[in-house]
Amino acid sequence: MKIYDVLILGAGASGLMCASHLDKKLSTAIVDINSKVAKKLKISGGGKCNITSVHVSEDNFDGDNDFIAYSLSQFSKEDLLEYLHVNSLEPEIRKNRYYFCKHSSDEIIDILKKNSSQAEILLNRDILHVEKKDELFQVKTSKDILQAKKLIVATGAKSFATLGASDIGLKIANSFDIKTKEFTPALVGLTVQKEQFWMKDLSGLSCYVNIHVEGKILKEEMLFAHKGISGPAVLSASLYWKKGNISIDFLPNVNIQELVTGSKKLVSSVIPLPKRLSKAILEALHVEDIECKKLDHKTIEKLKNIHNYEFAPAGNFGFTKAEVCRGGVLTDELNFATLESLHVENLYFIGEVVDVTGELGGYNFQWAFSSGVTCARSIV
Ligand SMILES: Cc1cc2nc3c(=O)[nH]c(=O)nc-3n(C[C@H](O)[C@H](O)[C@H](O)COP(=O)(O)OP(=O)(O)OC[C@H]3O[C@@H](n4cnc5c(N)ncnc54)[C@H](O)[C@@H]3O)c2cc1C
Repeated sequence: MKIYDVLILGAGASGLMCASHLDKKLSTAIVDINSKVAKKLKISGGGKCNITSVHVSEDNFDGDNDFIAYSLSQFSKEDLLEYLHVNSLEPEIRKNRYYFCKHSSDEIIDILKKNSSQAEILLNRDILHVEKKDELFQVKTSKDILQAKKLIVATGAKSFATLGASDIGLKIANSFDIKTKEFTPALVGLTVQKEQFWMKDLSGLSCYVNIHVEGKILKEEMLFAHKGISGPAVLSASLYWKKGNISIDFLPNVNIQELVTGSKKLVSSVIPLPKRLSKAILEALHVEDIECKKLDHKTIEKLKNIHNYEFAPAGNFGFTKAEVCRGGVLTDELNFATLESLHVENLYFIGEVVDVTGELGGYNFQWAFSSGVTCARSIV
């Protein structure tokens, strides 16, 4: 039976980027359950893949800051853009913040495929179980048993199971007594409690907000949905939300007190939001929609909560809608400079299977790529 120098489990973003940076002399194979590589990359960013962000720092992630910072320093946003440039891909910047492929995610997938072409791609294989015997890893798949000296687990997390996602990475870690945190949905819409059902009635409307959650402020669009609330600001907020209250500033760039002072118009008419939304917010704040001039001090104080609408969401839209998962292999279990297990020699974990999760905006691919390259460079 062939013994590979390196076997990568998962032909997604981190696995392919890792393979593309491995020494080409190493005999390498990449295993995946799907019939094609990089299925999540393909559909990401609406089919154009939000590759990274203009501003990337460890603060954009939920996880151990020092651990994350090291991989980001090894393969930074600038390094990623240079790698793409050398391969003739010039991503475009949207909203002054996010890098996307110009035409299609295939632009980056083709680069990753070309640069990892030394590796055998073993598709249509469900990874079932891993053992280590006599310094060799034995990987049982639905088709065969594969052997390798070094094993890199790049199987991602379990949201969007229709794309091949699973929690096999955690099962492999646990089978080696490596500690993990269960996956939970993140970058996902939030459901609301009865008191906030008014939000569901506004389904389809969106507005720019600031959301305050667990000491973070997320500044982006929010979308009202028939299941609750969604849109970029809410998805990023979901990353930090831990069951408690969140607070929404519906008018982050204006001062409501200044707007209403001295105006003869109705309150709903001076609020620079869609009328239906303004009226619904006023109702939620228990403020009558009267002439601004007639507002008394107490009512203005209530109205000021338009900058601080505080409530506890009920839950989230679940794994089928979540772009990523929180949780994974605990970073305490890994060498930050190599991503190798501290206890099991030659066993590595990269990408989303590690307990590092980025905000919306290309941070999760940046992590997948940075951790993949950091690991690849440590393997000689
Ligand atoms: C709809 C959607 C849109 C997204 N858009 C963006 C975006 O624009 N920007 C961004 O930064 N992030 C985005 N993400 C998140 C991003 O796709 C992931 O964080 C990233 O792909 C993680 O890379 P990875 O290599 O760790 O895992 P993946 O890319 O998920 O790769 C894991 C691979 O392992 C394989 N695998 C899993 N289990 C098994 C098994 N049992 N047997 C065999 N193979 C298995 C899977 O088939 C998969 O190919 C999006 C996610 C989704 C779901």
